[in-house]
Formats: sequence, C-alpha cells, structure tokens
Amino acid sequence: MKFNFQGAGIVRGFVETARNFLGSYYDPERLTTVEYPERKLALPENVRTVPFLVYDHDMSGLRCTACKICEQECPAACIKIIKDTVKKSDYLGKSQFQPQVFDIDIAVCMSCGICAEVCPFDSIKMDQVYELATQDRFAPLILHKEQLGKSNAYFHAIHPTDAVETDSLRDEAKRKAETKAAADAAAKAAAAVKPKPEISTTANSQSVGTSATANVEKAVAT
Ligand code: SF4
Ligand code: SF4
Repeated sequence: MKFNFQGAGIVRGFVETARNFLGSYYDPERLTTVEYPERKLALPENVRTVPFLVYDHDMSGLRCTACKICEQECPAACIKIIKDTVKKSDYLGKSQFQPQVFDIDIAVCMSCGICAEVCPFDSIKMDQVYELATQDRFAPLILHKEQLGKSNAYFHAIHPTDAVETDSLRDEAKRKAETKAAADAAAKAAAAVKPKPEISTTANSQSVGTSATANVEKAVAT
C-alpha cells in the first residue's frame, strides 16, 4: 500500500502494526513476541554471556590447570586465580594442579570470549545464562569456582558443534600422547637390555706391560 502525503510514514507504521496485530491470531510468522518469562525462545548456538569452567565426570575432573593465561589475557581484568600449592588427583587418579581460587566478576565481564579462545586446555567456555540481574552489585556477581564449574554434558547441550569438535581434538591429543609414551617406554626398555661394549682387558694389560718394559729399558740405558 502506497501513501504519498505528509505523515505517510506514520500511517504506514500504523497499518503494519495492525497487520501484525490481526495477523498474529492466525499466522505464527507474525507472532513476534513470547510471554517471557513463562515462555523463552531457544537460543542460537553461538550466543555467549559469561564464562564457565568445564569438568569431566565431577569437580575433581576440572580441566583447568590454573595456568593463568586467561587471567592475563582478559581485557577487563575480571578473572582472579590462585593456584593450588599441591597437585590433586582427578577421578581417574591422574594428578594435576588446579585452581584453589577461580573467581570471575561478571559485572565487569564484557562477554568477549577471549578467555575461552586462549585457554590451552579447553577448560573455560562461554555460557548462555542471562537471568543474572541482582540488587547487590558485589557478592552475587562474583562467581566462584564452585558456581563456575559445569559438566562437559552441559557444554554439549548448549554448544553441541563446538563440544563435539573439542572432544575429538582432545581424544586425538590423548591418543598421540599415549603413543609417544609407549614409544618412549619401548625405547628405554630396549636401551636397558642392549649389551654394553666389552672393554678388552688383554689389550690393556699388554699395553701396560709394553709400557712398563719400555720404562725399565729406558732406566737401564740411562
Ligand atoms: S569473556 Fe572476556 S571479559 Fe569476560 S572473563 Fe572472559 S576474557 Fe574477561
Ligand atoms: S581456564 Fe584455561 S587458561 Fe584459564 S587458568 Fe584454567 S587452564 Fe589456564
């Protein structure tokens, strides 16, 4: 519908609003809102809000080694990490350093995702939680390790493509490490059983004898 008079834009706006209002009774495409918070729209996979820490199995399997790279790279300086002084065993019995303290001030976090990009252990990923409003600026907005830790299954649920790719890269790296460890162990074992070159004692004694004789002859001659 074309309107070419002064204020035509306002009329066009009203017509469009009326079309959406009436159309929303029979055309789902025109239902542009949902009754939040009773209903919520499914979020696209790449939505990111604040970071979380991934663990395997349970919190003892926290992937974070407290290397502090994310803390150094965070442009908002909102990550605080204190590394444990001793290694801890995970659910498989493998020991590694973990963070004693891992806090993120989500009031300062700007959801850039740099921490997730730089983490060499696929330990920190971006969450999709968004109902984070609170009346207190401080305590509720500083998330601690226990609140940040979430399972790998949760990571799969919110970012399935990234999670599958991450799992496959981690499996590949694990396979390579195991193959290298097995090859190193085999080489070490082979070196241990390899016979050492014998030292010829006869040749040495002959040489010593010859040398001694020469010295005696030299002494007699002088
Ligand atoms: S998302 Fe960005 S601002 Fe937030 S903690 Fe990570 S690096 Fe810092
Ligand atoms: S989350 Fe990643 S980058 Fe940050 S301290 Fe832990 S292992 Fe290092």
